[in-house]
Amino acid sequence: MRREEMPVAGKAARQIVVIGGGAAGFFAALTCARLYPGHKVRILEKTTKLLAKVKISGGGRCNVSHACYQARPLAAHYPRGEKPLRPLLPRFMPQDTLAWFEERGVPLKTEADGRIFPLSDQSQSVIDCFMEEARRFGVDIQTQAEVKKIIPREPEGFHLHLATGKILPADRVIVATGGSPKLSGLDWLTELGHTVCPPVPSLFTFNLPQHPLAHLAGVAVPEAEVRVVGTKLRENGPLLITHWGLSGPAILRLSAWGARLLAEKNYDFAVMVVWQAAQKEKDWRDFLAQQQKESPRRQVKNLPVSLPQRLWESLLAGIGAGVAYGSLILCLDRLDRARPGTSAVKIVLINNLGSTLPVSRPSPSTP
Ligand SMILES: Cc1cc2nc3c(=O)[nH]c(=O)nc-3n(C[C@H](O)[C@H](O)[C@H](O)COP(=O)(O)OP(=O)(O)OC[C@H]3O[C@@H](n4cnc5c(N)ncnc54)[C@H](O)[C@@H]3O)c2cc1C
Repeated sequence: MRREEMPVAGKAARQIVVIGGGAAGFFAALTCARLYPGHKVRILEKTTKLLAKVKISGGGRCNVSHACYQARPLAAHYPRGEKPLRPLLPRFMPQDTLAWFEERGVPLKTEADGRIFPLSDQSQSVIDCFMEEARRFGVDIQTQAEVKKIIPREPEGFHLHLATGKILPADRVIVATGGSPKLSGLDWLTELGHTVCPPVPSLFTFNLPQHPLAHLAGVAVPEAEVRVVGTKLRENGPLLITHWGLSGPAILRLSAWGARLLAEKNYDFAVMVVWQAAQKEKDWRDFLAQQQKESPRRQVKNLPVSLPQRLWESLLAGIGAGVAYGSLILCLDRLDRARPGTSAVKIVLINNLGSTLPVSRPSPSTP
């Protein structure tokens, strides 16, 4: 909405309706109410709960922003959104988010990895701030008010058809209804003439049904590399083995960047995990060569890299019981020949000596 659309004296106040009582809906409503004081702003929320996702976000702490203060690098973090976001982000950057909350009495803190949280470590601080702002600006909030249809009105504006059968007028409508798992859930927007990209899951963990890796549930690797076999998709970062498969930042990022490609594959793909991505292959080989020289028959029990002991033992078990340093090197060389162009030492760190991990349908997860 443009500023020149502000109501003039004597003209009836305009009705701005925001559909959706989540973070986006609230922020849009609060911004409209602040910039256009003569307008009536209303939020329509279909459930009984407001800001429900904010409550659980960031593990209950709400990661409100990230310490990245330039539009270009910030936009680059958005899978598929980099280009369209580049010109938009400078209008409201993380530094504006910081100022917005601080000015409203919510002090924030930046953690070592750049994530920004309320100083209270409570998402409730954000919710309280939004609710207080809405009260201050007289934003009308209606829950159990699901919008089923938006019908354009002549000569302008809209009629909003609610699930209850009620019809509400609106001069301007902001749709902030979050994601929809199915394209059909957005039919009411396509009927208005909007183009909607088919939604696909993003930020999900990987299921490895009945994979022996599940025995290692709880093992966390600080710096792994995960590749989707047969594609260019790869991500580095912390990795967590769960009782259903793989999770952690590396997996979540991979699922976000690969969301469309993985959907095209119907989530039937294999991943290759480099368990120790932080260490150079050469250092590994040097270490193994040294051990072999010193005692070629000694078994590789001790940890040559900083991997969790349980994981290392499981990887060795995949190679075969009682592996000696010498045979481990032979094994690496064999793999090197079998898979030219790939790093043998890295491959040996894949479960069961180079076998890849088949992934099945995604489980929704969280950042
Ligand atoms: C567990 C978890 C942790 C997260 N942690 C973080 C984090 O720390 N930091 C971060 O930035 N992001 C985080 N996210 C993501 C973040 O929560 C979401 O991106 C954000 O909440 C989306 O806000 P939204 O307003 O677009 O959508 P939503 O929060 O989904 O809100 C949309 C609202 O619209 C309502 N609605 C839908 N259809 C209709 C309709 N037809 N009529 C009326 N109302 C309707 C819905 O009921 C809902 O309340 C997390 C997400 C989850 C699930």
